[in-house]
Amino acid sequence: MVSTARDLRTGRSVWEGRSTAKVRHAGLRGDLTADVLVIGAGITGAMIADALAQDGLAVIVVDRRDDPVKGSTVASTALVQYEIDTPLSMLTRKIGKADAMRAWRRSRLAVESVAARLAELKVPDVTRRDGLYLAGNTLDAQGLEREHAARREAGLPDRLLSRNQLKERFGLARSAALLGYGNLAIDPRKAAHAMLAAAIGNGARVHAPVAITDIDCHARSATAITDRGHAITCRYLVMATGYEFPKFVPMRGHTIISTYAIATVKQPKRLWPEQCMIWEASEPYLYLRTTPEGRIVCGGEDEDFSDEEKRDALLPRKTRTLQRKLRKLLPGVSAEIDFAWCGSFGQSGTGLPRIGAIPGMPHCFAALGYGGNGITYSRIAADIIAGAVNGRADCDADLYGFRER
Ligand SMILES: Cc1cc2nc3c(=O)[nH]c(=O)nc-3n(C[C@H](O)[C@H](O)[C@H](O)COP(=O)(O)OP(=O)(O)OC[C@H]3O[C@@H](n4cnc5c(N)ncnc54)[C@H](O)[C@@H]3O)c2cc1C
Repeated sequence: MVSTARDLRTGRSVWEGRSTAKVRHAGLRGDLTADVLVIGAGITGAMIADALAQDGLAVIVVDRRDDPVKGSTVASTALVQYEIDTPLSMLTRKIGKADAMRAWRRSRLAVESVAARLAELKVPDVTRRDGLYLAGNTLDAQGLEREHAARREAGLPDRLLSRNQLKERFGLARSAALLGYGNLAIDPRKAAHAMLAAAIGNGARVHAPVAITDIDCHARSATAITDRGHAITCRYLVMATGYEFPKFVPMRGHTIISTYAIATVKQPKRLWPEQCMIWEASEPYLYLRTTPEGRIVCGGEDEDFSDEEKRDALLPRKTRTLQRKLRKLLPGVSAEIDFAWCGSFGQSGTGLPRIGAIPGMPHCFAALGYGGNGITYSRIAADIIAGAVNGRADCDADLYGFRER
């Protein structure tokens, strides 16, 4: 295999408890040619395929799992936020002010772009939500003041809430919080299915299970070899293999860790005011969102290892910890759960992903290494890669490319 096979997730996520339309796909019986081959049928591959098929290119998507959208995408808690993992004030220290501002602004645009496409496709269960970032041990009240100033300077206004304002409006007991506007809560499986279906509607074909085991690059094309020995020859090839990193792509600074999530019973009458997304500026962190049927999805409790057996063994204990933390933060809600799951998760020093042309492999691109803002970054990847394939330079491509920072 050209990528590292992983058992990406365990347990049943809240999205698996819902019905969704199947994506039309088939196995592979012979050699194929295409303008673009996308390897990976998760939300990233779906967005990229959708963008390329809309541009009129002949697209093939393959996935090594039995069905499309069976990887990390199903485990995602799917808060689609412009407020990326690394606060702007901290990212500024890591990569400089101008680039940090660009990264944050680009994420803001990406959330709008996700919203627009999902609305166009009439994808259900997409909800606009504001985001409440609570003071904690990473950024205390003063840290949040600095973060607020940095965001305002970048043209990303939010509101700084004092302890009293936070208590009065949201009933939460913390020293301060930042209220950001216009994030999205989605069902990642439905969204990915809808974008793959849209790509198919524009002529794309999806083949699964098909594992790519080798890639040959030529002067004007690339050929991917499948586990059954078939060849797919394409003008461009895109690796959208999620946390199953390709073996030949430099991913220094990116590590795979483990993360945990729960979804409570339905409790539409007991939810907090405005149902904004909540997350803590803390280590370890806790984050929350609601679903349209009134569940609370709550996640965090990351562990710095990728060993899947160890990860899964901790699921019962992590579930109890998430329940306890939920009860403490919101004593008025029920912490009784219907779903608990865990998964592999990407982490990098800057929180930024890797997107762009693969060094030394002409015609090949990759979109990889996403952390807590994976879906926002999937959109950015779709725009950058569709642009590159169509000869359009992207003014932010340098932020995410495969050169070392
Ligand atoms: C618990 C959890 C919570 C999360 N919460 C959020 C959140 O709130 N907001 C957010 O934005 N992001 C979140 N994320 C991150 C987000 O889920 C990921 O960034 C996103 O799902 C990655 O999508 P993908 O399509 O890149 O990967 P995947 O969905 O894993 O798809 C990649 C596909 O590539 C296929 N593949 C790999 N190698 C090969 C090969 N050699 N040949 C053929 N196919 C191959 C795999 O089978 C897989 O289906 C969360 C992740 C987890 C685990």
